[in-house]
Amino acid sequence: MEKIALITGGSRGIGAAIVRRLAADGYDIWLNYRTQAEKALSVAEEVRALGRECVLLPFDVSDDSQVTAVLGPRLENRCPDVLVNNAGVSRDTIFGLMTDKEWETVITVSLRGFFNVTKPVVQKMVHRRRGKIITISSTSGLSGVPGQVNYSAAKAGLIGATKALALEVGRRNVLVNAVAPGFIETEMIGHLPLKEIVSRIPLGRLGKPEDVASLVGFLCSPGADYITGQVFSVNGGIYL
Ligand code: NDP
Repeated sequence: MEKIALITGGSRGIGAAIVRRLAADGYDIWLNYRTQAEKALSVAEEVRALGRECVLLPFDVSDDSQVTAVLGPRLENRCPDVLVNNAGVSRDTIFGLMTDKEWETVITVSLRGFFNVTKPVVQKMVHRRRGKIITISSTSGLSGVPGQVNYSAAKAGLIGATKALALEVGRRNVLVNAVAPGFIETEMIGHLPLKEIVSRIPLGRLGKPEDVASLVGFLCSPGADYITGQVFSVNGGIYL
């Protein structure tokens, strides 16, 4: 039977690069997105051009009723071999000015999103005694970043969740890891002072979505079958 990878937030940026990479590595793709249907369709076409299948799963990861309605029926007959929790948002502002909504949105998409999607998938993986879950955290969750108290909290929370879940399900051969990218060239960082940021990166450039996708591809490969509960940085050396 063909291998399946479910990637949340696969319509653009890092998620789309992970979709392309895993399709090139032989996975059929379940591609989740929230709003950008056209971009999701175009990524799906690229997957099909590689000879793999791609199913589009539009839902907001933070909305449990949407996740259940769209993902639930898919999980009745099949279990993905790989889940990549990539969907995420930022709402940067200094903490003293942060609104309830800015706090809530970032925490909910990251942490409630992790819960909503990972729980039904890990139940199936545990039953089958095989699976890999990779969650995209951030340097911000390791170091803390001013102006990102909400985002740092959410991304640090994902690291805690990754480690705890890895301990719970390791005996069932379900491997759970996190990837912590630094500054990666996507729409998410378009509002930041990139020139100043690049001057602080030892490798002297922003990361590319493919830099993150190649690590995810490795973690999904048999070469990574003894790695669980870990956090891997892809950050050009900006945080050591
Ligand atoms: P983008 O903003 O480029 O893309 C975000 C993706 O997430 C889109 O596919 C979007 O779907 C999807 N998404 C957002 N909210 C939801 C939701 N509620 N439900 C389902 N899908 C959603 O971000 P990046 O590619 O830069 O970021 C991807 C991940 O990497 C995020 O978790 C981010 O926090 C993390 N990261 C990014 C870094 C960077 O420098 N870019 C650094 C460190 C971590 P749609 O297109 O439909 O809106």
